[in-house]
Amino acid sequence: MISEKTIEKAFHHFTLELEVPFHLRGIFFDMDGVLYNSMPYHAQSWIQTFSEFKLRLPEFEPYMNEGSTALFTVQQMFKKYLHREATSEECEQIRQRKHEVMAAMPPSEIFPAMKGLLEEIHQQKIHCWVVTGSAQESLINRLVEEFNGILRRDQMITAHDVIQGKPHPEPYLKAMQRSGFMKHQALVIENAPLGVRSAKAAGLFTIAVNTGPIHRDVLLHAGADLVFGNIDELKGSWSVILKLLSKK
Ligand code: MG
Repeated sequence: MISEKTIEKAFHHFTLELEVPFHLRGIFFDMDGVLYNSMPYHAQSWIQTFSEFKLRLPEFEPYMNEGSTALFTVQQMFKKYLHREATSEECEQIRQRKHEVMAAMPPSEIFPAMKGLLEEIHQQKIHCWVVTGSAQESLINRLVEEFNGILRRDQMITAHDVIQGKPHPEPYLKAMQRSGFMKHQALVIENAPLGVRSAKAAGLFTIAVNTGPIHRDVLLHAGADLVFGNIDELKGSWSVILKLLSKK
């Protein structure tokens, strides 16, 4: 559990750079690993696909690259483990194969605790947005159905809306532009190091929730203002976060 003091300190540190008082109006949620428990399937798909191409990835590696485009992941893994660039043909083959393997996985579940948290946030008249590097229409559409009235299709930034994916700030900058919320009016909930870097590069207060196997220090090192060990911990601290964020 994170203490109230720690939350206060992190928030105080962030607000030092603001020229106007913080007033929370919106939250930008990442999708995979934050709303959906989909990362184990993505990780498994990456590991299987790369092994078919004779590259054995360590278990944690897909989590380190989470949030970036498939193309970026292929290029990174080739450089890191094969010490060479991937050809555009290899990139395309691996990207397609990963997509196939992932499509054969069972449907991802929404984290039940997250559903409760979003309902609470919605009741507090705070707008919920989704900022994802994903282009999976089925998952995106399910959010609109399952979070009826809380998440809207026109309040989502997906892979289709940006040229540069996370860790580039573009996805979060686009969310700010579309929502009209500035850095004194919004915060981000992310689970992946590249997502945290993207949000921080856009200048936003960023809460990381560690839903995967990576060490929490990786998220801190990526720049997260706060790191929660799991969703229940974040949910348990939400009223404290809201209280501290609303303090003038
Ligand atoms: Mg994620």
